[in-house]
Amino acid sequence: MDKKRVYTFGNGQAEGKAEMKNLLGGKGANLAEMNLIGVPVPPGFTITTEVCSEYYELGRDKVVDLLKEDVEKSVAKVEALMKSKFGDVENPLLVSVRSGARASMPGMMDTILNLGLNDEVVEGLTRKTGNARFAWDSYRRFVQMYGDVVLGMKPTNKEDIDPFEAIIEEVKESKGVKLDNELEVEDLKVLVKKFKEAVKKQTGHDFPTCAYEQLWGAICAVFDSWMNERAILYRKMEGIPAEWGTAVSVQAMVFGNMGETSATGVCFSRDAGTGEDLFNGEYLINAQGEDVVAGIRTPQQITKIGSQRWAELAGIPEDVRAAKYPSMEEAMPEIYKELDEIQTRLENHYRDMQDMEFTVQEGKLWFLQTRNGKRTGAAMVKIAMDLLRQGMIDEKTALKRVEPNKLDELLHPVFDKAALKNAKVIAKGLPASPGAATGQIVFFADDAAKWHADGHKVVMVRIETSPEDLAGMAVAQGILTARGGMTSHAAVVARGMGKCCVSGAGALSIDYKSRTLEVGGVTLKEGDYISINGSTGEVYEGKVATRAAELSGDFADLMALADKYTRMKVRTNADTPHDAEVARKFGAIGIGLCRTEHMFFEGEKIKAMREMILAENEEGRKIALAKILPYQKADFKGIFKAMEGCPVTVRLLDPPLHEFVPHDEKGQQEMADAMGVSFKHIQQRVEALHEQNPMLGHRGCRLGNTYPEITRMQTRAILGAALELKKEGVETFPEIMVPLTGLLPEFKEQENVIREEAAALFAEMGDSIDYKVGTMIEIPRAALTAERIAQGAEFFSFGTNDLTQMTFGYSRDDVASFLPIYLEKKILQVDPFQVLDQNGVGQLVRMATEKGRSVRPDLKCGICGEHGGEPSSVKFCHRVGLNYVSCSPFRVPIARLAAAQAAIEE
Ligand code: ADP
Ligand code: MG
Ligand code: MG
Repeated sequence: MDKKRVYTFGNGQAEGKAEMKNLLGGKGANLAEMNLIGVPVPPGFTITTEVCSEYYELGRDKVVDLLKEDVEKSVAKVEALMKSKFGDVENPLLVSVRSGARASMPGMMDTILNLGLNDEVVEGLTRKTGNARFAWDSYRRFVQMYGDVVLGMKPTNKEDIDPFEAIIEEVKESKGVKLDNELEVEDLKVLVKKFKEAVKKQTGHDFPTCAYEQLWGAICAVFDSWMNERAILYRKMEGIPAEWGTAVSVQAMVFGNMGETSATGVCFSRDAGTGEDLFNGEYLINAQGEDVVAGIRTPQQITKIGSQRWAELAGIPEDVRAAKYPSMEEAMPEIYKELDEIQTRLENHYRDMQDMEFTVQEGKLWFLQTRNGKRTGAAMVKIAMDLLRQGMIDEKTALKRVEPNKLDELLHPVFDKAALKNAKVIAKGLPASPGAATGQIVFFADDAAKWHADGHKVVMVRIETSPEDLAGMAVAQGILTARGGMTSHAAVVARGMGKCCVSGAGALSIDYKSRTLEVGGVTLKEGDYISINGSTGEVYEGKVATRAAELSGDFADLMALADKYTRMKVRTNADTPHDAEVARKFGAIGIGLCRTEHMFFEGEKIKAMREMILAENEEGRKIALAKILPYQKADFKGIFKAMEGCPVTVRLLDPPLHEFVPHDEKGQQEMADAMGVSFKHIQQRVEALHEQNPMLGHRGCRLGNTYPEITRMQTRAILGAALELKKEGVETFPEIMVPLTGLLPEFKEQENVIREEAAALFAEMGDSIDYKVGTMIEIPRAALTAERIAQGAEFFSFGTNDLTQMTFGYSRDDVASFLPIYLEKKILQVDPFQVLDQNGVGQLVRMATEKGRSVRPDLKCGICGEHGGEPSSVKFCHRVGLNYVSCSPFRVPIARLAAAQAAIEE
């Protein structure tokens, strides 16, 4: 039998179900499921995502042939249920054609409503409903959507305006009205006529009148939209593969634009911004489809409490609010009750926060969509923990519900309370997506990208945003819009991205031409600083100071829960006491990598260091090193103290020497003076230190092996600090790490130096301390011969930055010239310096761990590259059996959660 390409749903029955997301797309699967659980949904059918792939393989004509019979049969089913006929003049069935991928891609794919209309059918619809305004309003919307999406009339360039919008503006202006719904029937007729003229003029063809021709055009356009620029960009950002494809759902229309007892809206079973367990949403009376989201009119709130909060933010008095902007709860209490009942049912059914779309047609409620709602990081944590407490999900599910990377948002700064008091509020909008953002104003997405590339922090300010603005929103600190509600494009996308957003700040008057923004007598230009508070909706002039976030409340509970299931530990990479303290607050249980090079760079230290490097002989070097020792010891004391009671892995000096010497004449002269040698001498030494390929040059343990006195000094500083702290009653666990080992003897040499110096120091001090000597595994040879290296080393720490560099043979410093192209061409799926290459570099990690433990079963293994804070890499480390990952302080909670998830997934 040929495979099934079309799945029908309607009247409480469905061929599909929620589990079939991969095949039917999220929207199609949930439309089916809603039917099965008795939610009122207009009947329709879904064409599978597999057909999308066939479409790109076989081409349009073949696919239409393949589908024809099934689609016609399915249309007939819908006709029977709706007691009307597709293409019929007197009793027409109208449909929507909707896209839907596995993962929801808001605003990405284009939907066409009211399909099936033409000049005769619109008259028939008028006769059937007795509502000419409705019929013509539907028709003009259809011609516009079809023209934009199917006939390609939508301008690709953002500066050009949509030809249909231009016509609407023109007609509105000639009538002296502001809003679409103020247009009369005659005006709507004019719109349709002009729209069709525009189509003819631009495409050279008449607007299609045959219902089936329209339908096939729309279905294919949905498939085409899978490859449009916005969709590609969104997939890239979200890591969605192109192979998934989109499904197409064709569904009987229900109409929210039939008058005062009709409406359309969107709602959430919980607050997507804060996570609060409060049903909320927005609706518009006598409107259709995306009107609420598009910010055409100010939408009203669904619940009374939501309405009151909204009015308070907007500064609208209660009596005005109740009269002018009543909530649905007040204006349509019966429908509201049903809506509330169904949203509760859906949330209970899916056991997660739902994002729903509905339409009310002449007093009857229909659901058009439900999905697990996008949410901010904060909401994600709160909702997971609330659902757990409410007994809807278990602990493991709660842990799995939080995307580790989303925690990043909770770790970012918030506005400093004191600074906020003095900040000048210039406007107030809706708290669309929480957080604090300060940056320079830009008005266009490409400017945002450009400024960002130049190192500026920007806040993107728009009248309203559209999918074309995605790239700009992605790089902005925050987004501010003058129009649009809590469910506007800006708000939804910002919440998805975890970006701070204030929407609908109506007092702003934005002029794109002059690139200025005027509000309450203040004029701000492009480049001026502005600050926005996504948690309150406040907009401030200038910069407002921010402060660090804290791990508390639900976030802390979640982390505690993570620890309950985790096997692998999380340490941090920290070179200063401050970083160590931050990481500890975030739950790090030690330092996996303490780099020592920066300790040589500041002030007096760099001079002594330069003296050491430029010295003629060992004697000279020793004198210089003696000057550095006390500084180093003090640095280590600070770090050990901050990590009291926890292990700290200190890496011996690693970078090539030439990085330390002055390359400018002034600096060289200074050194000559300080050391009492000639300028020429210094110049020659600097030249001699120059390397063709410093990454593969005189660095790591090669330094320690050629200048053992450096290793000696560092050993003294590390263990000396630990001994002094021991006296003060502070417990330390120093681990000395030899960098860049490739051969057992080069490790052994260093180990001997360390142990000798330690013994000497302990004898001098009359006291001792436990310490370990281990190595970094960052050269492929070390991984390949790990069973030899482990004879000496007491621990392995995988330096996956260098290991990646040397396994791929990509210079970390030079990848920018080809990596973007490799990613573009899909030669590489991801940047291996960000996401551990499990098949290559990862195999070295696995092999070295196994080999190492074969000779030293208790060998402690960890990873300390950038990958230590990247969730998929962390999970890999768990599977390989590492003891810990080490990452930058702000990634610690992310790694902790990822480690717990890895343990649960096992
Ligand atoms: P998106 O994925 O962008 O949300 P949708 O397919 O959900 O696109 O449709 C866009 C809008 O049109 C939504 O508000 C939806 O509720 C509405 N809509 C879609 N199909 C119908 C229909 N058959 N009847 C009424 N409204 C519809
Ligand atoms: Mg949409
Ligand atoms: Mg939708």
